[in-house]
Amino acid sequence: MSTNKEVISDWQLSLQNNYGTPTIALSNGIGCEVWDVEGNRYLDLLSGIATNILGHANPEIVRAISEQSKALSHVSNFYAHPNVVNLAKKLKTFTNDESARVFFANSGAEANEAALKLSRLTGRKKVVAMKGGFHGRTMGALSLTGQSAKQIPFKPLLSDIKMIAFNDLKEARKAITKKVAMVIVEPIQGENGVVVPDAGYLSGLRELTEKTGTLLVIDAVQTGMGRTGSWFGYESEGIVPDVITLAKGLGGGLPLGAMIALGKSASLFEPGSHGSTFGGNPISCAAALAAIRVIETDNLQEKAREIELSLKLELSKNPIVSTVRGKGLLIGVLLKKPIAREFVGELQSRGILANAPTQDVIRLAPALVISQEQIEEFIQKFKEVAVTYER
Ligand SMILES: *Cc1c(COP(=O)(O)O)cnc(C)c1O
Repeated sequence: MSTNKEVISDWQLSLQNNYGTPTIALSNGIGCEVWDVEGNRYLDLLSGIATNILGHANPEIVRAISEQSKALSHVSNFYAHPNVVNLAKKLKTFTNDESARVFFANSGAEANEAALKLSRLTGRKKVVAMKGGFHGRTMGALSLTGQSAKQIPFKPLLSDIKMIAFNDLKEARKAITKKVAMVIVEPIQGENGVVVPDAGYLSGLRELTEKTGTLLVIDAVQTGMGRTGSWFGYESEGIVPDVITLAKGLGGGLPLGAMIALGKSASLFEPGSHGSTFGGNPISCAAALAAIRVIETDNLQEKAREIELSLKLELSKNPIVSTVRGKGLLIGVLLKKPIAREFVGELQSRGILANAPTQDVIRLAPALVISQEQIEEFIQKFKEVAVTYER
């Protein structure tokens, strides 16, 4: 048996240093629990990185993957596959739009690249995106990402992209003109520290973009697939966007992204406009269909909304906590001091996995199958770490 130390030292000798060096190596998991190569157990409050929407080794997903891998692992997009069609049909029903059409990709960045290319086919070039937003790391998606530290080393990026303040309709009103092809926005800015806009913000953007004929692109890569208590994370605003992008939780832990275009924008792509060799892989689509089936039959969206309330109530009792924000099972714990990274390290040494997207926010994005006992275990360990900072 190898040790964490051995794996990490080999990691340093063989992998690029773009992620920074991890401290443990994970080997297996079930539900919300994972074990490292030395057999230490952790409670996974991140579910991969908001990807394993039903946790690890969910039996329905395991069955779907293994059955499909015995039948066919890949068909090119020269041919149709029932899983791909069934998943697209299912996603369409969540949009309530008969005219919606789906393009499958492998990741969030690719889904947003597809949206960006789609917007060019409106004949316009300008894009409005949000400061603090995150849409991926490829050159197009990075151009949309409103975080200068990630952008600066890679300039020049795409031109004609205007960054405006998130949750500010006044700025949006000035920026969104008839020359703007698309506006891209997350229902909650996950990577920016789980920043939730005011009620009425997304519907305000919808109103503005409707007037100028601009595509409203909702990046639901992190908020999607039931995590925030609804399929995409914008439904409480009562809007119909032009484009929805998905990835992370969509494939139930397998790589899968989607760009869903609604209404008139659904017919902008024509044969030859875009493509992806692996996009809409039948195994990933089988996993996605299984995940959706379980989310529906076990009412996991409702459960996410319930756990949100108890997490907010209990975590905000700790004096070090300034506020607990987010929706469903996408939660940001804002601390009164910039110690989030250190705090996460302390949690890990007590067997809890979470992460710190910013210096004062701890992000929780557990699988929707997390149990009440596991939530209580987390709250207890959180409290243990929190009191050490109160002295
Ligand atoms: C993670 C994320 C992406 C990028 O997804 P990748 O699969 O890493 O390319 C895009 N948008 C949002 C909102 C995300 O959270």
